[in-house]
Amino acid sequence: MREPVITIDGPAGAGKSTVAREVARRLRYRLLDTGAMYRALAWSVEQAGLPPADTPALRRHLEGVTVDVREDGISVDGRDVTAAIRSPAISTLTSQLTTLVPVRQKVTPIQRRLAGAGGAILEGRDTGTVVWPEAEVKFYLDADLDVRARRRQAEFKAKGVEADFEVVRAEIAARDIQDMQRTLAPLRAAADAIKLDTTHMSIDEVVEAVLAAVGRQRCSTRS
Ligand code: C5P
Repeated sequence: MREPVITIDGPAGAGKSTVAREVARRLRYRLLDTGAMYRALAWSVEQAGLPPADTPALRRHLEGVTVDVREDGISVDGRDVTAAIRSPAISTLTSQLTTLVPVRQKVTPIQRRLAGAGGAILEGRDTGTVVWPEAEVKFYLDADLDVRARRRQAEFKAKGVEADFEVVRAEIAARDIQDMQRTLAPLRAAADAIKLDTTHMSIDEVVEAVLAAVGRQRCSTRS
């Protein structure tokens, strides 16, 4: 029997990545951080000195670039960019670039191929709506903006980076708007997604809620 596909979507700082990683480990599923793929492309576009606009130069650049996503990191044309893609500048550039048709056209088919084998957790903004709408279990994680900004700030701190709360909050708020309002694959909950407000939940509580829902779904398809 083919193992299910689980999608986890939601805005930045809602807990998606941490939860998806732990759930993938517990279920022994393949984890696909779709945002990392877009971030890697953004990094390559910045290196090439191209503006975030749908131009022939951008399309040519995208055709030639290879993004290699592994469980423990991500490379662009053989160069490891796992840490480099996490900067605030790359976050903002990624959000701008992901409004563009050629950027999504480059990445979505790769994500679909990886999901097609089953036994995968896809994490991002449009994984339950566009990438794999036939996913067996879908989640939409959200939390208050202040809480999400605080979590992001703590993540930076853990990496030794002191980030100003107001700056982090503004960056996330701007990305929320851009990601939700774009025409192409906007951030939104799929109609059949299980919505979890993680504002007052610990990571463990969210992981348990996700695993419980996946377990229920598996029982109902077997009976
Ligand atoms: O999840 P993460 O913060 O790494 O995503 C970075 C950006 O990539 C998001 O703000 C969004 O613009 C874009 N993204 C997307 N579709 C996805 C995943 C991420 O457009 N499936």
